[in-house]
Amino acid sequence: MPSATFTSSGSITKFTNCRLVKDNDLVEQDLWVSSITGKILKSQREFYGRHTIPDRVIDLGGRIISPGLIDVQLNGAFGFNFSTVPDDLASYGKTLRHVNRSLVATGVTSYLPTVTSQKSEVYHKILRFLGPSGSQRLAEDGSESLGAHCEGPFLSPTKNGIHTPEVLISASSYKDLEACYGAPNLSSSRVRMITAAPEVGSMSTLIPQITSQNIIFSIGHSEATYEDASHAVAQGARMITHLFNAMRPLHHRNPGIFGVLGQPSRSSSTGPDPRPYFGIIADGIHLHPSSITIAYNAHPSGMILVTDAMHLVGLPDGTYPWSNGEKIVKCGAKLTLEGSDKIAGSSISLVECVNNFLNWSGASVPEALRAVTGTPARMLGLEGVKGSLDGEADADLVIFGERQREGGGMELVVDQVWKFGSKVFDRAS
Ligand code: ZN
Repeated sequence: MPSATFTSSGSITKFTNCRLVKDNDLVEQDLWVSSITGKILKSQREFYGRHTIPDRVIDLGGRIISPGLIDVQLNGAFGFNFSTVPDDLASYGKTLRHVNRSLVATGVTSYLPTVTSQKSEVYHKILRFLGPSGSQRLAEDGSESLGAHCEGPFLSPTKNGIHTPEVLISASSYKDLEACYGAPNLSSSRVRMITAAPEVGSMSTLIPQITSQNIIFSIGHSEATYEDASHAVAQGARMITHLFNAMRPLHHRNPGIFGVLGQPSRSSSTGPDPRPYFGIIADGIHLHPSSITIAYNAHPSGMILVTDAMHLVGLPDGTYPWSNGEKIVKCGAKLTLEGSDKIAGSSISLVECVNNFLNWSGASVPEALRAVTGTPARMLGLEGVKGSLDGEADADLVIFGERQREGGGMELVVDQVWKFGSKVFDRAS
């Protein structure tokens, strides 16, 4: 039998001597990626079926390969607030591209740019820039938008947090949402997620129409009772925004929004789990570590770690302008609204959230990473495309080293980031 001829395409990288994050395990296995398709390859099919050989082999010395991290609540970064409209609107897109290229080096390969409560004209101006990065699939563009997260303005005025009360509104029909965000922004999936209070106006009755547009409805900044929240979930609410913050606390006779995590889960044979996903800010300021562990243990496969980070990450302490004429005071990692003790988002990176969770909960590395990879991908309906190292998934990767954490324990360090099969960040260079 004649021997097969093996060819190379110039685009295929094989990682070897590495541990892959797969479900709840670290699996010692090679990984093949293509920078042409931007996808993870099924190595057996490439080698035995197509007689392809890799163009380069990278020995990772036992390090961990994770799917790229996904942040579904990021308000801005590197001094740029997604909610601020510049005088020169054309500069918005340019600055956003710069942010995306910087953000990818933190390990966040895709995200939902999050806009806080604004007047409608702001959404009409900026949402066109924040939609999914989509078909271009260029590694050099850095982190990729999966669509905008509009947090507000259909929020409870009594759970507004740092959202300006004057811009909060209620909806009586879907037309009110279209007027606020702009109808094309809703129908084109530029808006991927809406955080709203289901008990305000007629919002709970609008949830089916919102979800029919392929938009995730997330309960947040809300006075919802357990009954209100259960009804919203039955209507199609799929997520809870920053669980515990800006909602009624758990009371043993009225468990509030948190209570829906206590509903019985179903096995896959009887349908999907009816409980919503939930965002957790593991920055050590928004939540006590024990609250995080309780929520995680109630519904481990629903937890999504988010940063809720503001554009002030990495800037020195001081007072900075916020939207609608207000100001934010930054003191270390703590951000508060000027003149109050209201927490104003975080200034933490997503990998720091993962490291905090690892050390507070006793979860394994794959369990902690699942909360920023596979779980947000599933919540967004992108299972098998993002947040996965299976063949055919997008080749968005983070290569993690491990080191001792100050004060004990271990932590993950972003050594390399790959986007669509090309290396875009290397800590060593
Ligand atoms: Zn919020």
